[in-house]
Amino acid sequence: MSPGSAETEARLEQLRDNLGGVHARIARGCAEAGRDPAGVTLVVVTKYFPASDVLLLHRLGVRHFGENRDQEAGEKFREVRQALSDAGRPELTLHFIGQLQTNKAAHVAGYADVVESVDRGKLVTALAKGAHAVDRPLQVLLQVSLDGATTRGGVLPENAPSLADAVAAQGLLDLRGVMAVAPLGADPDEAFARLREVADGIRARYPQADWISAGMSGDLEAGLRHGATHLRVGTAILGSRPSLL
Ligand SMILES: *Cc1c(COP(=O)(O)O)cnc(C)c1O
Repeated sequence: MSPGSAETEARLEQLRDNLGGVHARIARGCAEAGRDPAGVTLVVVTKYFPASDVLLLHRLGVRHFGENRDQEAGEKFREVRQALSDAGRPELTLHFIGQLQTNKAAHVAGYADVVESVDRGKLVTALAKGAHAVDRPLQVLLQVSLDGATTRGGVLPENAPSLADAVAAQGLLDLRGVMAVAPLGADPDEAFARLREVADGIRARYPQADWISAGMSGDLEAGLRHGATHLRVGTAILGSRPSLL
């Protein structure tokens, strides 16, 4: 899409409308939960969508973006950051939110600002190594599994405290809190209430670890009811993702 074309303008208006709808849901959800919307960060999940959409969202004021695949994220955001810097526009914060193979961790540490999906000790070591290689600090969230299994990623709640210790022991890794996805078919309120207990336990030992990343397009209100500081929203803003890239 070329800037200024009718197609680009139409996409910009669509994204503006969708973003407005999500901000309205956040405002309503915060009012119902007696919370200040200023305490909630919207992370727009742009996986499967092109760099051009990221740049349009940035024009609309979005500064936090989420991606879940190393290769796609690395390429897309190199292009995005170059375009922003050429235009003298403000920087953005990139959150890596996907399951991460250990052998890709160092690469991700080279371009992500936050990794929300840390779920095992080996990944902690590999991310720390990558952060040292580029001499760049990395903010880390522990992904907690709320379905009693670790097949879809996430550390079991009972193992989260020792994983927190492992992150905290690494100089360039900054432990900021927890993240979770509500299990398919589960009640998101129950899931996020459990996440909050895990978050409270970790924050009791590490006071700076006060982020809770919970809530997506379908369940952001439940996230807000249970203390989410970060929402990860894709579909409600960008539309449905293609099933294959
Ligand atoms: C894709 C994804 C999201 C966004 O989901 P939507 O339902 O499109 O809002 C949030 N979190 C994670 C971990 C994801 O992979």
